[in-house]
Amino acid sequence: MIHPVCPFCGLTPPTRPARRPAGHNWIVNVYNRSIAVCNDFLLDDVSSAYPQWPGGVAPELMCEGVGGAVTTEAVRIPTGLHLKNAEPVLIIGAGLAGLAAAARLGQLGVPSEILECGEAVGTSWRQRYNRLRMNTCRWNIMLWFGRFPKGTPTFPTRDQFVRYMESYVSRHDLRVRFGVTVDRIDRVADGWRLATSDGERTARQVIVATGHERIAKIPDWPGHNSFPGRLLHSAEYHDPREFRGKDVLVVGSGCSGMDIAGDLVQGGASRVRLAVRTPPHIVLRNSAWGPNDLLAAALQRMPTRVADSIDKFIRRKSIGDLAPFGLTLPDEGTFTVFHRDEAQPTIIDPDVVEGIKDGRIEIVAAVSSVDANGVQLSDGTTLWPDAIIAATGFRTGLEPLVGHLGVLDDQGMPSGSHESTVAPGLCFLGYEKGAGVIGPRARRATRDVCRELVGGR
Ligand SMILES: Cc1cc2nc3c(=O)[nH]c(=O)nc-3n(C[C@H](O)[C@H](O)[C@H](O)COP(=O)(O)OP(=O)(O)OC[C@H]3O[C@@H](n4cnc5c(N)ncnc54)[C@H](O)[C@@H]3O)c2cc1C
Repeated sequence: MIHPVCPFCGLTPPTRPARRPAGHNWIVNVYNRSIAVCNDFLLDDVSSAYPQWPGGVAPELMCEGVGGAVTTEAVRIPTGLHLKNAEPVLIIGAGLAGLAAAARLGQLGVPSEILECGEAVGTSWRQRYNRLRMNTCRWNIMLWFGRFPKGTPTFPTRDQFVRYMESYVSRHDLRVRFGVTVDRIDRVADGWRLATSDGERTARQVIVATGHERIAKIPDWPGHNSFPGRLLHSAEYHDPREFRGKDVLVVGSGCSGMDIAGDLVQGGASRVRLAVRTPPHIVLRNSAWGPNDLLAAALQRMPTRVADSIDKFIRRKSIGDLAPFGLTLPDEGTFTVFHRDEAQPTIIDPDVVEGIKDGRIEIVAAVSSVDANGVQLSDGTTLWPDAIIAATGFRTGLEPLVGHLGVLDDQGMPSGSHESTVAPGLCFLGYEKGAGVIGPRARRATRDVCRELVGGR
């Protein structure tokens, strides 16, 4: 039953979000017990997360009055609902996705516990190279109720991002158990059993958030062990100082490859070459038109041909023609490829463009083999670099964890819709590229989790 008039201020409680007067907070009542004080945003979540109320009783919505301050504490639903004794939802991984999910569940009154193999949050970010900064602007990666501190640059650095994640954990009072690796998940009668480095755990609901870039991928170049120089993956690269005075070949023209090439040039490598198989779509991290990701979000909503033309125009104006240096413009437009293959463009800084134009970063053909005879390129050239840095991507490495459950596709990605529950009580979060999508995806995924918990199975 919905109260026709708010007992506090006489306003009619809204039935649709659009009709809710701004600045009001709402109390959700179940069995005459206030279980939450909501701002408009949260109320949407509460009503969709609990579609089936205990005993079929609809929640009462009452207006609390105008302008009441809603703090994070106030909007937390006391776990007085029948979830109060629920075992925690187990979340695997304390990266951005895991934290987002735990915070959302907390707001919905659902206990959760994060199991993290590292000794701190954001383990994967801590391991990345020193120069790394986000490609996504801070407004886009910001999680729910998680502003960046004042003074944070538009594109936070690796360390700023790690600190942000740390403060998010304390701000939302998230429960994280560090140093616990989950090795395998098995279906049991009433949920899931997790084999962990700290013994077995069971849960009705499990959210897998182990990251899109869990395992470094190096091409299987036969005989690469006999290559006399050093061969490492971009995930093992930290600082250009160890390559000072060295001839380095970077393989791969994605964001990491290009950024590392720029870092090596600035750090004093004697020669830097970048092996490119397919010339990438390139955008500047930040241009006169604003942060690339905000611009891309706007362009994505336009007809593909229009978006491609605008993107081409921006590339010409902000980057210029790199064809004389070996980076021709791809035949297909950025957004044609994005909509078809979900492929993201390579995001670079102006110093990398300058490096390519003034020849300090030399573009060379793709690598065909690496062995005792050096590096063979697809155009027949042989190189003898001191080191090869393979910026050749990552894979999820989900096979040992869930491969036997039949929930992965042939690329090792969660099959079907990535963020929703692929099997009852088992949900994957963060396997779509881009931190910007994590917040909204976490919101949907946690709704699914709540629906299952409340609806029962
Ligand atoms: C160099 C680089 C730069 C990037 N820059 C951007 C960017 O600018 N913008 C953007 O949107 N995206 C970027 N990405 C992608 C980025 O990784 C994701 O957007 C974001 O980190 C994903 O967060 P996540 O929580 O899904 O994964 P992660 O941050 O990888 O978190 C996964 C967590 O799970 C833990 N874990 C893994 N396996 C287990 C297990 N079996 N048991 C227990 N714990 C486990 C890991 O230790 C880790 O802490 C970048 C990626 C790389 C490699």
